[in-house]
Amino acid sequence: MRDHWKNFIGGRWVDGSNDAVIDIENPSTGQSLATIARAVEADVDAAVAAARACVDERALTDVRPAIRGRWLLDLSTWLEDHRAQVAEVLALDSGKTLTEANWEIDNTTTFLTYYGGLADKIEGRYIPLGGSITDYIVPVPYGVSAHIVPWNYPLEIAARGAAPAIAAGNAVVIKSPELDPLSVALLAEGAEAVGMPAGAFNVICGFGHDAGTALSTHPDIDQITFTGSVETGKKILHAAAESIIPAAVELGGKSAGIVLPDADLELVAEQTRWAIFGNNGQICSALARLVVPADRHDEIVDAVVAKAEALVAGPAMDDLDMGPMISARQRDKVAEYVRIGVDEGAMLATGGAIREQDGWYFEPTVLANVDNTMRVAQEEIFGPVVTVIPYETLDDALAIANDSPYGLVAGVFGNDLTDATWLADRLDAGQIFVNDWFVPAVEAPFGGFKSSGFGREKGQAAVESYIQWKNVAITRL
Ligand code: NAD
Repeated sequence: MRDHWKNFIGGRWVDGSNDAVIDIENPSTGQSLATIARAVEADVDAAVAAARACVDERALTDVRPAIRGRWLLDLSTWLEDHRAQVAEVLALDSGKTLTEANWEIDNTTTFLTYYGGLADKIEGRYIPLGGSITDYIVPVPYGVSAHIVPWNYPLEIAARGAAPAIAAGNAVVIKSPELDPLSVALLAEGAEAVGMPAGAFNVICGFGHDAGTALSTHPDIDQITFTGSVETGKKILHAAAESIIPAAVELGGKSAGIVLPDADLELVAEQTRWAIFGNNGQICSALARLVVPADRHDEIVDAVVAKAEALVAGPAMDDLDMGPMISARQRDKVAEYVRIGVDEGAMLATGGAIREQDGWYFEPTVLANVDNTMRVAQEEIFGPVVTVIPYETLDDALAIANDSPYGLVAGVFGNDLTDATWLADRLDAGQIFVNDWFVPAVEAPFGGFKSSGFGREKGQAAVESYIQWKNVAITRL
């Protein structure tokens, strides 16, 4: 682990223009881990100018698209070759266990190979108009694509946006998250190593309120992809409206999983374990509300409690079941939500406490007998807390699941496919899982309904965020 990290602008590694740094903490210990150059407005200007120069030189658009694809494929190979180093850095600065860090690397390489392979398959179309007119439409990259990335999956989300953007021929400026930016800096090392043109792939780390604002309001960006909270998402959309540029916003969630009366208990408990205690529940699409038949409530709570109580937590590098949360602030926010839930009348079935040890650990928590109107059922906690909500009829279950400002994902557990598909048709969410959670399909579109945002990541759908269609009509004289 090196002591100091830099930003990558225009193919060069640079310190912040005012020499300021951000201290990166190791959440496993609460101790300082490293410093990284802190980008401020002047650095954002430099990164956007570098990306603009790359666009103006047509360094990404005069090459055959397969070459752009090759850079992404090579970046995936580079990441595989540097897996041990990247996993260690990601575990150390984010608090993910090594196993979780390796999953994130797996997902990242999958994004890179998928969009690497897609780069030369983004095609236009001929429109038959008859007579003497030749008409065709061409996919044209926007130009400078800005990416603002959250801390919960920094490497994966940086690649999830940058890979389709570059495949389509855009130059990217990525603002990495200020809490755990180091794996994204390593991704830039990979971009440099595989020979991407200078200015095609820029990575800067800075705080949201200065570098983030400077990037999202920058007059010379052509498109923005934001992943983060609803509150910040609104600011991004205001900025995009001012500049009249398209924005893809991937925001929060409070996703519900409906358990059917015939569901297998072990399946429900095991899926819940991964879907809310994995990554400490710091997952936009976490299974935050388990909606269960009232007459099975107690046995399901007992089964999930048993899973929670079996989990062993410790420093990320020890690779136990759970690492720490990202920060003391996030941990304390979760503790406060548990207090609110208990005050509202929820039953604390297990957990609920900060672990008294160095680092930012919180016990996996089950809140039972929750009513969907409670704040703990309506607001995103973003921590290892599952709320268990009883229902009487399938109509009630559907109403509970849909009674949320969010609509990122939803799920159904059970064997009755008639009921499962009836629910899948009616659940207000961008992705529905049946008998599984987080099916990790890069090929399938992902994104929210309602306040969970709009625009789609993953799959071929993501490319639509990075191209505009140009129509050419030629009249033969
Ligand atoms: P956040 O909104 O606080 O920060 C996200 C990013 O925005 C960070 O890089 C931050 O520096 C930057 N930022 C903050 N204020 C800004 C501003 N005024 N202008 C521009 N940029 C600014 O969110 P977070 O706490 O980092 O992430 C957690 C949230 O992200 C949760 O709500 C989670 O559900 C959501 N999320 C969504 C998805 C998805 O794909 N839908 C994926 C991961 C996380």
